[in-house]
Amino acid sequence: MTAATPLPLVQTPNALAQALRPWRADGLRIGFVPTMGALHEGHLSLLDQARAQADRVVVSLFVNPAQFAPGEDFAAYPRTLDQDAALLAARGCDLLYAPDARVMYPKGFATTIRLEGPALGLETDFRPDFFAGVATVVTKLFNQVRPDVAVFGEKDFQQCLVVKRLVADLDLGVEIRTGPTLREPDGLAMSSRNAYLSAAERAIASRLNRVLAEAASRAAPGEPAARIEADAVRALQAAGFSSVDYVAVRDAADLSAFEAVVDRPARVLGAAWLGRTRLIDNLPALPGAKF
Ligand code: AMP
Repeated sequence: MTAATPLPLVQTPNALAQALRPWRADGLRIGFVPTMGALHEGHLSLLDQARAQADRVVVSLFVNPAQFAPGEDFAAYPRTLDQDAALLAARGCDLLYAPDARVMYPKGFATTIRLEGPALGLETDFRPDFFAGVATVVTKLFNQVRPDVAVFGEKDFQQCLVVKRLVADLDLGVEIRTGPTLREPDGLAMSSRNAYLSAAERAIASRLNRVLAEAASRAAPGEPAARIEADAVRALQAAGFSSVDYVAVRDAADLSAFEAVVDRPARVLGAAWLGRTRLIDNLPALPGAKF
C-alpha cells in the first residue's frame, strides 16, 4: 500500500486564500466540510459526499469557542489534529484548514448573528447561544473558503435547517447538502463526544436511538405528539439516562410543533445526558418521510 500524500495544512485566512487561488483560477468547483475535529466515519462520509460534488475539497477543523457556553466541554473537547490529518489524507481531502481561535476571533471581535425560525426551541431551549455561535463561525468559514458546496450531517438536524435558512437569508451563495447519520453497529450515532462515555454509560447510550425509533414508529397521523414525547422521556429515564433535555416530534420542514401528527414528513429529535455527556439524535418519523 502506498502512503497517502501528506495533506496540505493552512492555519490562517491568508494562507487559505493563497492555497485556493490556483483552484479558483482553474475554475474548479470547491467543496467544504466544516468540523470540530476528533474525526470519525460520520465526518468522513461527508467528505466522500463533498468529493462527489466538487473538484477539490477543503475540511476545516476548529473547536469554536463561540458555540460553547461557560461550563460546557470546550476545554475537554478532544483535539486529535495529527490523527485527523492522516484520516483526511487517506480519504482524499485536498486541504485542511485549522485556524487558531485568536485568528478567528481577534481582540475587538464584536459581531454575532441573531436567529429565529428553525433556531427557536429544541437545542436553543438548553443551549441558548449555541446556534448564534454556529451561524457566526459558519458565515466566517464560508467567507474565508468561499465554497461552491458545503456538506452538513443530519445528526445535527436542527443545525442543518438553521444553516439552510442562514444561507438563504444572508445570500451566502453556497449550495448546502446534507448526509445521513452514521451509526455504531448498535445504533448509537457516531459522535466525537462518545469518547467521554464510561463503559457503563456506553452500554446505555444506544437506547437513545432505540427509544427515538419506537417514538417514530408511533408517529402516525392523528396521534398526539405530547403523548409520544412523554412516553419516550419516561423510557429514556428508565433506561438509565441521568436527565432528558427533550424528545420532540416535529414537522421535518421547519421543526414546527404538532398537537397531533399530520400526514407530512415529521422528525423525532432527542437530547439526553449520561453523566456529564450530552447525546443528541434524530430520525424520520413517518414512513417515506425524507429530509
Ligand atoms: P462536529 O465536528 O461534531 O461539529 O460535526 C461536523 C459535521 O459532521 C456536522 O455537519 C455534523 O452534523 C456531522 N456529523 C457529526 N456526527 C455525524 C454522524 N454520526 N454522521 C454523519 N455526520 C455527522
